[in-house]
Amino acid sequence: MAIPRIAALAAVIALALPGCATNPSGRSQMLLIGDAQVNQMGLTAFNQMKASDKLSTDPAKQRYAECVTRAIVAQLDPQWRQLPWEVAVFNHTAANAFALPGGKVGVHTGLLKVATTQDELAAVIGHEIAHVTHRHGAERISQGMAAEVALAATQAYVGRKQSPEEARMALALLGVGAQIGVMLPFSRLHESEADIAGQALMARAGFDPQAAVSLWDKMHAENPARPPQWLSTHPDPERRRDRLAARVEPLRTARDPASPRPACTVP
Ligand SMILES: [Zn+2]
Repeated sequence: MAIPRIAALAAVIALALPGCATNPSGRSQMLLIGDAQVNQMGLTAFNQMKASDKLSTDPAKQRYAECVTRAIVAQLDPQWRQLPWEVAVFNHTAANAFALPGGKVGVHTGLLKVATTQDELAAVIGHEIAHVTHRHGAERISQGMAAEVALAATQAYVGRKQSPEEARMALALLGVGAQIGVMLPFSRLHESEADIAGQALMARAGFDPQAAVSLWDKMHAENPARPPQWLSTHPDPERRRDRLAARVEPLRTARDPASPRPACTVP
């Protein structure tokens, strides 16, 4: 089986977009999987979760999560803004949220208990959407450890059915590991990029960038031993928090005072 697999992988690489790209933070990335493929993976994952997980039936929560997401998406570059953005609220006690390539956002009801203001929810959603616009999922899939998954993803894209294990691994690489019981956090570099870009994004949308810090403090105080996935494992959490804090005043100053603040009703 080895030779066909290698041949198929070579085909994946040959079909992929030119391997190197520069992400919005100015860092060069190796990408062996194109946007269309990774968006399809995101859509498949989202549909699977909507079919198997419990969706919230509270329309106020749904409206709230959509309102915050919409305000953030409005600040994205056109190539990202034009995606068919969709938000689902899941009945889940873990204080998590995720964003998948292709423009699919999931918010757990447990997060709404901790993120008690629109600004705090925007801090998490901004961070998750920044993972998408930085193509962190595609980058992880493209890294050596993920060659098999890139192959499986491409086969799924062209219609071959993935094995459950391949599907689980693909989901974990896209950043929804906690949802499926595979812990595979984003790297420290990816988290730093998502922190900085996400906070800038939510501030541009009119939310208060201080909420990225206050939410961090709340979550950490509540459960210092086991942070949720969006705060995932990080060797130096204090430094990460301090970097967010240092950005608050510059982001507040840069904001256009004439632009309206979002008014999302907290359910
Ligand atoms: Zn993250």
